[in-house]
This record gives sequence, structure tokens and C-alpha cells, in this order.
Amino acid sequence: MSTRVTGRYKASTGRYNAFEAVNGLFDKSADRLNMPEWLREVLKTPFREVTVAVPVRMDSGKIHVYTGYRIQHNGARGPWKGGIRYHPEVDKDEVRALASLMTWKTALLDIPFGGAKGGVACDPMNMSMTELERLTRKFVARIAIVLGPQRDIPAPDMGTDGQVMAWLMDEYSSRRGYSPGVVTGKPITLGGSQGRVTATAYGVVIAADAYYKSRNETISGKTCAIQGFGNVGSYAAHFWHERGGKVIAVTDVKGGVYNEKGLDIPALFTWFNEKRTVAGFPSADVMNNQDLLTLPVDCLIPAAIGDVITPDNCGNIKAPLIIEAANHPTMPEADEELYERGIVVIPDILANAGGVTVSYFEWSQNLTQFYWDEERVNIELERKMRKAYLDVQTMARQEKCSKRTAAFMLALKRVGEAEQQRGN
Ligand code: NAD
Repeated sequence: MSTRVTGRYKASTGRYNAFEAVNGLFDKSADRLNMPEWLREVLKTPFREVTVAVPVRMDSGKIHVYTGYRIQHNGARGPWKGGIRYHPEVDKDEVRALASLMTWKTALLDIPFGGAKGGVACDPMNMSMTELERLTRKFVARIAIVLGPQRDIPAPDMGTDGQVMAWLMDEYSSRRGYSPGVVTGKPITLGGSQGRVTATAYGVVIAADAYYKSRNETISGKTCAIQGFGNVGSYAAHFWHERGGKVIAVTDVKGGVYNEKGLDIPALFTWFNEKRTVAGFPSADVMNNQDLLTLPVDCLIPAAIGDVITPDNCGNIKAPLIIEAANHPTMPEADEELYERGIVVIPDILANAGGVTVSYFEWSQNLTQFYWDEERVNIELERKMRKAYLDVQTMARQEKCSKRTAAFMLALKRVGEAEQQRGN
């Protein structure tokens, strides 16, 4: 019961080893479940890891060789499922960590998928559309052998979007025939689902709503600060604002803005669509990524990169509630300190599961070729998120543990049972 979770510092990059950190969280919950050693070993070890060279002809005419990964963590409950990230900091340990989180996330939401993740270490913000298309097609050509609608189904993540998914589908389909179910997060015209673009953020705000509901409160009038204004952060701001909450600070990789009375979110969208950053938005003060985390808000929503809440800054966090829209934004040591301080953390595998939930709906629609309207998608999404939230809350109360430990316990139990039933 007393496993202390740490992630070992990696001297070469100055970062924690995120995969070790996730496995530390795994062990903490496995201890409570009295899970046998052999099963822990099976569940922690990725099923398959593919590393590929991705040579791309840049617009300058020169060839640049990128490194790409697809890691399939566990497929006991269904086809592997997980996003593809384009970001300079993508490395194998990070992708392993994210693949493993997908296994626990799909199990927690009770979606019939396993967990996977992929990525290419590149800087999409400094690449042209034609370079991104060539990169995507070459990457898909090299990993297509392990993909498929019944095998492994990618989706968007940081640095990728519906256009990248469209190229992925096209490249895969040119080899295997029309296969919309090989990827989710596609544009609607190519078989994407209504509500997928906003699904992760909608789920984040439903998780917040469920938390407040359990306390007979609502989002209305509550302040929040959001790190990241990409797909997840921007729509989280939109839904928070729509429910009468005040978004008082937002940052992205280029800078940030703060207004204690609440930012004008529709105007911020207009600004962002033109400038591609929130920085410089008028009628607001300047805010940076570090200071945003320690603002005195009702709710803090990290929605950018991982490992931003650290042992160094967690003592200064003033928000009583943190909703992890990003994957692993909180380092394990910081997580334990937050719990001891009574700060409630709604963990990533629950908070940001709206995206994979609607990806599941999209995949189902592709297989049946019967398409739902947005209202149905959002109703089903809300039902799934609220059920998972209540499951986690009940387990946390029973076990007198954090919501993260409870969420992992529920997920580990489900994947463990599936693994044992399938046998060896
Ligand atoms: P995105 O690429 O659309 O946006 C990322 C945002 O983070 C941008 O605003 C960018 O400026 C900012 N950012 C990047 N590097 C940063 C840095 N070093 N410091 C501060 N900000 C930085 O990505 P997204 O899809 O919104 O994903 C955001 C997070 O949510 C990621 O952790 C991702 O894994 C997680 N997530 C996304 C989805 C999804 O459906 N898109 C689903 C589940 C989890």
C-alpha cells in the first residue's frame, strides 16, 4: 500500500522518464489490488514497438530523416487505439508512456480498445503543408503493416489534426482499399464523426461539471486558467465560458494573456484564428506558462505538454481543483504532494477520455456506415464520461485514495481480467 511513486530523472534530456512514472502509478494501484507479479509484468510490457526512419524531401530540395514510432501497449480488450503526435520532444519513452495511458484510459471508459500511441520527432509549426503531407505519407507507408481497422487505429494528438488523419486514411486505403475505420478524427466528409473535434474538451468540462455536481455546485461563476490553446485548450475555454464560468488566463507556446474579470473567449478565438497565438490579445495583461500554473483560480486546466506540474512548483499551486486535459501533466512526486494538500486532481485517463470515446463512436459509425447527428454523439459521450466519473469517485471513497489511484485500479482490474481470460 505504501509504494512511493517516482519517475527517474533522465540526464540526457533533463526530463523524467515518463514511462517509468506511469508504471509507478500502475504499481501503486496494483498493490491495492494484490495483483500477482507475473500479471503486472504482462500488463506493463508493451506488446509491440515499431521505430522507423522517415526520410522526407523538404521544400528546399534537401532530404531530412525524421524518427517515427508506433507503440502498441496492450490489446487484450480490443484493437490498439491511440493518437499520433508531431512534436520536437517525441521520444520512445514518451510514446511508451502515452501508449500505456491509452490502455488504462480505454479500459476506464469501458471502450472495446487497447492502448497505443505514435509520433514523429519534428516541429510541425516550422514545416509547410507539403512537407507535413510528405512526412505523414512516408510515416504511414512505414507503419501501415501494423495498422488496420481491426488491428490498430490512430487518431490526432498534439501537432496533428483532421488533415493529417485524412492523409493517413488515404495512404493506408491506397494499399488496402477504402478503409475509413483505420483512423479516427477524420474530417466529416471522409467519415469523421460529428462532435469529434470538440470531444476531448467537452469531456474535460463534463468531468468538471460532474465534480461540481457532487458538491452541489456548478461551473457558473467559477474561474479557471488553461495552459495550451490548441484543440483541447481552446474548446475547453469555449465550453467553460459557455457554462457561465470565467476563463481568466490562457497561454500557449508563444505566450499568454490574463484578465482577472474573465477573457472574452469568442474574441480570443477570432484573434487566434488570425495570429495563430493567444499572445498579444488586447484588453488583457501578459501571462507566462509558469505563472499561469500558480494563479489563484477555482480550477487549473493543463492542456498542453506533460510534466509541467513538478515538485518545484506544486507547493505554489493555489487552485483547489486540477483537471488534467493534457496527458501526464503532473509528475508523480508532485501528485502525492497535491493529494496531501487536499488539492483534487481529476486524472488524465479520466479527464481527457472524451476524445477516445468519440473516436470509438466514429469507428463504430465507419464499420456500420450509419452516421449519428451531433446531439446523439454528445449525449452518448456525456453518459460515458459521467459513468466513469462516478465509478472513480465511488472507488476513491471506498479505498480512501486519490482519484488517480482509483481510476488506475478500475482500469487495471478490467485489463487484467481480459488478459487472464484470453490466456497464454
Ligand atoms: P494541439 O497541438 O492542438 O495544441 C497544443 C497546445 O499546447 C498549443 O496551444 C501549443 O502552443 C501548446 N504548447 C506546445 N508546446 C508547449 C510548451 N512547451 N509550453 C506551453 N504550451 C505548449 O494539441 P491538443 O490536441 O490540444 O493536445 C493537448 C494535450 O491534450 C496533449 O497533452 C495531448 O496529448 C492531450 N490530449 C489530446 C487529445 C485530442 O483529442 N486532441 C485527446 C486526449 C489528450
